[in-house]
Amino acid sequence: VVERLHACSGALPPFSVEFSPPRDGAAESRLWRAVRVFEGMRPAFVSMTYGAGGSTRDRTVRVTGELAEQTTLLPVAHLTAVGHHIGELRSMVGAYADRGIRNILVLRGDPPGDPTGEWRRHPGGVEYADELVRLVCELGDFHVGVASFPEGHPRSPDLETDTKYLVGKLRAGAEYSITQVFFDVEHYLRLRDRVAAADPVEAMKPIIPELMPITSLRSVRAMLRLSGSALPSDLERRLTAAAGDGPEENRAAVREVGIEVATVMAQRLIDEGVPGLHFITLNFAKATGEVLANLGYGARGGGVGVASA
Ligand code: FAD
Repeated sequence: VVERLHACSGALPPFSVEFSPPRDGAAESRLWRAVRVFEGMRPAFVSMTYGAGGSTRDRTVRVTGELAEQTTLLPVAHLTAVGHHIGELRSMVGAYADRGIRNILVLRGDPPGDPTGEWRRHPGGVEYADELVRLVCELGDFHVGVASFPEGHPRSPDLETDTKYLVGKLRAGAEYSITQVFFDVEHYLRLRDRVAAADPVEAMKPIIPELMPITSLRSVRAMLRLSGSALPSDLERRLTAAAGDGPEENRAAVREVGIEVATVMAQRLIDEGVPGLHFITLNFAKATGEVLANLGYGARGGGVGVASA
């Protein structure tokens, strides 16, 4: 991943996208349509989530493997520690390696059932993501990324403690982090400053901001309940006004605001010199594609300029 970020030769930083394993045949066709659209736009990498509580384990392995085998994309597989003993975590890493996947985003995950409930380590598993980073790095030649939280992880007592543990994950061997989604660029800039103050050497590692073009107010609210991120009040007001007060939200109007906001945020991040832009796509290419087009990707030579996996 880091090599791909550095290989960027265009005027714009490289971009990357996040997919999720599809639930059924229709969702699988939709995912592959999005994959083929993005493939033509040459993202630096594509990531595949690992369902809450390890619920999509087999699908994540299968689909990420297919991305490695059947596309020119560089896939990054997410892996969480939830519900797995060390032996299972080792064999998951082995399953990725067997499919040629060397890039893993290592996460602790949230408790199964109620994700805001009490976290309980699997008796034979790991407590925090830094332990899983060490485990994966010990298993071979893997490139590991971790999560970072511009507004702090919801279970962290304060931002300084949160930053200390992020730095711990980087020192354990992670080569970069991808942030939780956020809607105020200042949160990202402050995270970057905190990491620089905590450890100037680890701060050289890319902190890739994650963006999500909002297309539904209801779904973004549901997502934010878990993430520890918040909608700034002026954006919340704009989106609520756009959604209207009918029984169904006005998706077209919400989407228009969402795309404009994501474009403005991304442009500001580009101006701030970010190493890349990572987009949550929900397996749709259209909204992210519009944001990228607004920013000049395609027209101004964005992308990494590397076609092979
Ligand atoms: P950790 O880094 O272990 O942190 C968990 C908490 O413990 C934090 O409060 C932290 O400050 C604290 N902590 C960390 N290390 C220590 C330590 N050594 N000692 C004491 N306290 C410590 N979830 C999924 O289920 N599947 C996914 O595919 C997925 N993808 C994600 C992608 C991104 C980019 C992000 C930002 C999150 C993703 N998540 C995913 C959510 C993630 O699993 C949760 O946010 C989870 O609660 C925290 O994971 P973590 O890896 O940051 O945990």
